[in-house]
Amino acid sequence: MGRALLLNASFEPLCVVPVRRAVVLVLKEKAEVVSRNGAEIRSERLSIPVPNVIRLVHYVRVPFRSRVPLSRRAVFARDSHRCQYCGHAAENIDHVVPRSRGGEHSWENVVASCRACNARKEDRLLSETELSLRRIPIAPHATLWVVATAGSIDPSWEPYLPSGRSPRARPGLRASSAAVPA
Ligand SMILES: [Zn+2]
Repeated sequence: MGRALLLNASFEPLCVVPVRRAVVLVLKEKAEVVSRNGAEIRSERLSIPVPNVIRLVHYVRVPFRSRVPLSRRAVFARDSHRCQYCGHAAENIDHVVPRSRGGEHSWENVVASCRACNARKEDRLLSETELSLRRIPIAPHATLWVVATAGSIDPSWEPYLPSGRSPRARPGLRASSAAVPA
């Protein structure tokens, strides 16, 4: 039935919830509708506009989370499924500084890579190859991670999402909606 973007009272995006859950939050007066899609959900007694974006009435303090968890899926999402050396479709993840050369398994040292570049690079440093990175790998913005796990972005959410990536994950956002009242 679709999903809605849930904002904190401060208008910071928190997570994406099923529309049904969004409607329940609105009915319980825990959230208000910020943007609606024009459709209505009808029951015997009332009709409720279907929300695209809702906002919590009371601010929820979200536990600080310094890093978005590093996973293959998350790296692919950050790098738009593109090889960070040549731009072709990525199939592998590559350690920029190879682990055998002391490279860490961290956001700053892991990139999506195609098989060819991965094989070309082997256990060498970038300076020992012809390859170069298209952009510096950084930890993704946590909001983007939330959106990446939710799949596509509804156009109505865009005004409420920060654009681009920030060098550090900001406090706050979790891939799950654990901090949100039920
Ligand atoms: Zn490549």
